[in-house]
Amino acid sequence: MDTRFDVIVVGAGPTGAVLAALLGQAGVRTLLTDKSPTIYPLPRAAHIDHETVRVFQKAGVADQVMSASRPAEQYDFLTADRQVLLRFLTKGSPSGWPAANMIHQPSVEAAVRERIAELEAVELRVGWALLDYQVEADGVIARFQTDSGEQRVTARYLVGADGASSRVRSLCGATMDDLKFDEPWLVIDTLVQDASRLPDINLQICDPVRPTTCVLMGSGRHRWEFMLKPGETAEQVSEDAFVAELLRPWDVEGAVTLERKAVYRFHALIAHEWRFGPVFLAGDAAHQTPPFAGQGMCAGVRDAANLSWKLAAVISGAASEGLLDTYQTERQAHVKGIIDLALMMGRTVCILDPQAAAQRNAAMLAQRAAAPPEAPGQGFAFAPLTGPGLLAGAASAGELFIQPWAGPVRWDDVAGDGAWLITREAVEPEPGLSVFKLSDPEVQSFADDFERWLNSRSASAVLVRPDRYVFGAGRAMALIEGWRAALRAPAGVVAH
Ligand SMILES: Cc1cc2nc3c(=O)[nH]c(=O)nc-3n(C[C@H](O)[C@H](O)[C@H](O)COP(=O)(O)OP(=O)(O)OC[C@H]3O[C@@H](n4cnc5c(N)ncnc54)[C@H](O)[C@@H]3O)c2cc1C
Repeated sequence: MDTRFDVIVVGAGPTGAVLAALLGQAGVRTLLTDKSPTIYPLPRAAHIDHETVRVFQKAGVADQVMSASRPAEQYDFLTADRQVLLRFLTKGSPSGWPAANMIHQPSVEAAVRERIAELEAVELRVGWALLDYQVEADGVIARFQTDSGEQRVTARYLVGADGASSRVRSLCGATMDDLKFDEPWLVIDTLVQDASRLPDINLQICDPVRPTTCVLMGSGRHRWEFMLKPGETAEQVSEDAFVAELLRPWDVEGAVTLERKAVYRFHALIAHEWRFGPVFLAGDAAHQTPPFAGQGMCAGVRDAANLSWKLAAVISGAASEGLLDTYQTERQAHVKGIIDLALMMGRTVCILDPQAAAQRNAAMLAQRAAAPPEAPGQGFAFAPLTGPGLLAGAASAGELFIQPWAGPVRWDDVAGDGAWLITREAVEPEPGLSVFKLSDPEVQSFADDFERWLNSRSASAVLVRPDRYVFGAGRAMALIEGWRAALRAPAGVVAH
């Protein structure tokens, strides 16, 4: 094996695998390693949002992921006697994909690994556990334990996508902000024999006797999660007889069979530093959220989308090192918003004290009665990205750009992987930027959506980054000049 790479990605979970796929597509020579010989088999993500699917689309696996997925258009938080405390309804999304999609995480990871096998620029090595790394003048030397002994590999950059107990995080000495959530839950995944006997929406039962989650998964599966009560142990609640007792009120005997189960402690943590010179943290290594908003893996995939184009641009010489500092400034605040939402949900659900639960119910039922009925939205709304990777003061900077579809044809597939300028004005070609005029033949089927988008921002052009976030909207030349400056930003935005 060649031992010199552009990037070493430690950890081939969803974050590392998507990162490697996007880097490989951009021609970045990437080594992806995982200490485990197999994909993690126990219950984890059951939901991905539209933006995550859009990143999968860029990585060439959206159709495969979506063929085994089901949309979920309703998510209810209910009292023990089934009154609605909180309801989320979704219909459509800016990405064109359904806002909420139910999945089976190992199948999704397998699809990404199949894609990686097609990419010449990526080498995947499983059974490779990172031992340590050393920072050199021109990059890093990483040492791995493998079945055939120790291996040393050099690269310009190293990304720790090695999960919640990240070795990279402890090696670089990153500290975590603990947002104080620590609740034990049993997670049960089942194979479905008779879907007609199961709920067809996602549910949180805010019952102080036993807070419970019941959600759809990818086709053919259904999930329950049960909060452990004080004094209960993981061994006790995992026994088949105990599980059968927990499922009894759902009357699903004969409709489902148990596939797998696990007990987790749900946490809310976020790293203070995400970059240490040539070393980055991504995914669960950088942040962990309780799963109530179904966003942990989505956040890791967003990290991958954000970091991949910046690394590719710096490695190709199209951008200076300073661009890499915008990874943390953009992603950290975004993830914090996601964790806050999950904490709000988790603190609503995980109440065991009957009096406190009664007070919560009274307050939330009164609030809901006073509010207009919920209307379908386009998924969770997160604050736009901020910082020097975006054009300061420009309309819509930091928002996710729309992806119109013309029948089965999706705009991102037409426009390709890089940055785009979509414009009404005539502009000179700009290196590294795909320029689309609204009158261009390939744009015409999408032009009405772009016209509406530009008109509502009083803009004549929009510059969209490779991660599909709006760099800015306004006059074409100002956007191009701002883009050149952002790519050439000096290093040192974030201390490391
Ligand atoms: C019960 C539950 C439900 C969830 N539901 C959702 C949901 O609905 N939606 C959602 O988006 N998220 C959900 N999540 C979160 C989601 O599963 C995680 O956020 C996601 O798996 C994190 O991906 P990752 O690639 O960052 O880390 P991981 O998936 O943990 O992958 C890290 C990889 O690094 C490898 N590794 C570790 N150490 C080393 C080393 N030293 N050398 C080499 N390799 C190493 C590991 O073997 C592993 O393969 C849920 C989680 C749980 C527990």
